[in-house]
Amino acid sequence: MSNSRSPLATALQQIRETIAETAAACGRQADDIHLTAIAKRQPLDRIETALALGLRRFGENQVQEAVGKWPALLDRFPETRLHMVGALQTNKVREACGLFHVIESLDRAKLAEALARERDKTGACPDLLVQVNTGEEEQKSGVRPRDLATFLRQCREDLALPVKGLMVLPPANQPPFLHFALLAELAAAHALTTLSMGMSGDYETAIRFGATHIRIGSGLFGMRVGKT
Ligand SMILES: *Cc1c(COP(=O)(O)O)cnc(C)c1O
Repeated sequence: MSNSRSPLATALQQIRETIAETAAACGRQADDIHLTAIAKRQPLDRIETALALGLRRFGENQVQEAVGKWPALLDRFPETRLHMVGALQTNKVREACGLFHVIESLDRAKLAEALARERDKTGACPDLLVQVNTGEEEQKSGVRPRDLATFLRQCREDLALPVKGLMVLPPANQPPFLHFALLAELAAAHALTTLSMGMSGDYETAIRFGATHIRIGSGLFGMRVGKT
């Protein structure tokens, strides 16, 4: 198939080799590391190519954009898992729960309550990851490490939400490994097994620190188009 010669196919092969080599180097199984292809602001033909290459796990950071492109694709590739990785407004919770299989950006009590209400209505809820603001950055969303225990208790015990793990976006100006290590430590302390960390520029490091899900956008698809 001509896809095997596309830039995307080449990038995917390199990423898979890097995952395998890095996993082997730190005594992990490559199968335990899942690639989430971050499709935000990527042209549809690249997403089609990724699907043709067999990728079945994708991420988006805006509900509106995802609603515009994924329902038709999910009809054709029903085994696809779609992850929400961007900030989620409570007024988009219904739409998000109807489309996404995983929401990685659970970051505040109001959102947890809205997700629980929607779950009570429909009887279903996407798997959830709590986004942790390990850098305690003012402008970034996420639960601060010191607030995590209380927040998790609220989500898991009070609201019975299906929290599976943690997600982090490290500060741009610091070595990411510090934040990956902290996230891994927090996950272990709370018996959470899913660790979403690592992007195009730092996923090898994330794998070394225990990432189970790496989120790769530009390193797979190439440059995004349009505005943020
Ligand atoms: C855009 C985005 C990514 C992918 O970033 P790349 O550097 O293009 O790999 C990963 N995670 C989140 C939350 C994002 O918004």
